[in-house]
Amino acid sequence: MTDLEARMARLDTYLARYRDGGIPNLIAGQDVAAESWFETRSPVDESLIARVALGTAETVDAAARAARAAFPAWAAMPGDRRKSILHRIADLIEERAEEIALCECWDTGQAWRFMSKAALRGAENFRFFADLAPAARDGKSLPTKDHLNITSRHPIGPVGVITPWNTPFMLSTWKIAPALAAGCTVVHKPAEFSPLSARILAEICHEAGLPAGVLNLVNGMGEGAGKALTEHPDIKAIAFVGESRTGSMIMKQGADTLKRVHFELGGKNPVVVFEDADLERALDAVIFMIYSLNGERCTSSSRLLVQDSIADRFHAALVARVNNIRVGHPLDPATEIGPLIHKTHFDKVTGYVDIGKQDGATLAAGGGRVGDKGWFIRPTLFTDATPDMRIAQEEVFGPFLTSIRFTDEEEALAIANGVAYGLTGYLWTNDLMRALRFSDQMEAGMTWVNSENVRHLPTPFGGVKASGIGRDGGDWSFEFYMETRNTAFALGNHKIQRLGA
Ligand code: NAD
Repeated sequence: MTDLEARMARLDTYLARYRDGGIPNLIAGQDVAAESWFETRSPVDESLIARVALGTAETVDAAARAARAAFPAWAAMPGDRRKSILHRIADLIEERAEEIALCECWDTGQAWRFMSKAALRGAENFRFFADLAPAARDGKSLPTKDHLNITSRHPIGPVGVITPWNTPFMLSTWKIAPALAAGCTVVHKPAEFSPLSARILAEICHEAGLPAGVLNLVNGMGEGAGKALTEHPDIKAIAFVGESRTGSMIMKQGADTLKRVHFELGGKNPVVVFEDADLERALDAVIFMIYSLNGERCTSSSRLLVQDSIADRFHAALVARVNNIRVGHPLDPATEIGPLIHKTHFDKVTGYVDIGKQDGATLAAGGGRVGDKGWFIRPTLFTDATPDMRIAQEEVFGPFLTSIRFTDEEEALAIANGVAYGLTGYLWTNDLMRALRFSDQMEAGMTWVNSENVRHLPTPFGGVKASGIGRDGGDWSFEFYMETRNTAFALGNHKIQRLGA
């Protein structure tokens, strides 16, 4: 049996339990079937994975009421008890890491070589926020001559978490763990294209001792369950990861109930390579940051800005490597790129190949479909694009790189900042002054200098411009899930104005 066959066999045993009953919603600690169902299919061969309960506005209402009922006790639980439950969740994630990784690969098309660590990163997210839970409520003492001001933090209430289909397990834990650590209860609406790992997470949370109603899972469509969640009066805040356009819709939908929102949205992130950079390392990073995770990654460096003097040499090396990338079955350990998530997304990405050609950029690699089953595409590279082209402005969200030449620093900065988005920026130069100057002016929530994206959980994560509102990571996450209150105590008999005396 090959490695691939062995993994497929194990996957089959994990999926068997969804075959008859499908994937129900999970509300107030109970599985809840639905009147209607939708299907999740594998992007590898379009085979049916499971039918999934289709949540409606009524389902969301039941979940929100369960979250509201569970909130007072969960919020009042001492932080060190929440901490131990969250660590127990991390333990169980680690125990089921293989199952989570296999399901994630099959449901999303992501390659095993990246997903095999996804569950462990999810566990790390839980451990990181578990350790912060005991101090989450801490505040400041801000004394004046007459008063002692004391701030304290309080969980905002039940929150909605809405996640996308790219790396769904990692992203769900990244949002849910801090919400629980802060003392909030949660209704989670995962993406309809990739519901499997959210189900596993909800099961794990309950097995770990999370009280009923603290985490509720409602599957469904964005315009159905998702919209209802953003409009529900019991839900105090929405943590959303997805497209910028959807973020804007959610802001409108949440306006009547004055929702607090946290948005992690799209990107068209530049990687700027100057002639003085370590070009071999820059090449590795450029390739990794757009072709890993099928390019379905919000932080991907989808625009290469390369200095004219080295562009021909850099492109030649790039084309050779891109043509060598292995596209294949996601569970094959050799595979570097798996299939795109869904036909709709495949059509979008291949549509941009046509747009790039029409706009007059040079198709230097890829662009075509691989095989006739599943949504596989060759990694694609367009060179000699101009900054105004659609492939240089719009998020494609696939293994699709657009390269643009520049002559000097000023032009590079104008191109880097000349898009609607501002999530990440990557800069390659060995000129220290330039690195300081350029990174300071780059319009991006996160910049890496001479590095690919390496995540450190205490640092702030989030975008500027159309890439988001708010920050995650460390205490920034608690700022969103909690309210800060101030109480002023008089320290003596200070003078009070006596009106009407
Ligand atoms: P999407 O916006 O289409 O969907 C995301 C989620 O929102 C899904 O669960 C969907 O059902 C739900 N939704 C859709 N319409 C809704 C509505 N009207 N009300 C409430 N919920 C609604 O995004 P996607 O295609 O699943 O994900 C890809 C996008 O996510 C890309 O733009 C990518 O850049 C972005 N993303 C951003 C980050 C980040 O940290 N900035 C991380 C990952 C993905």
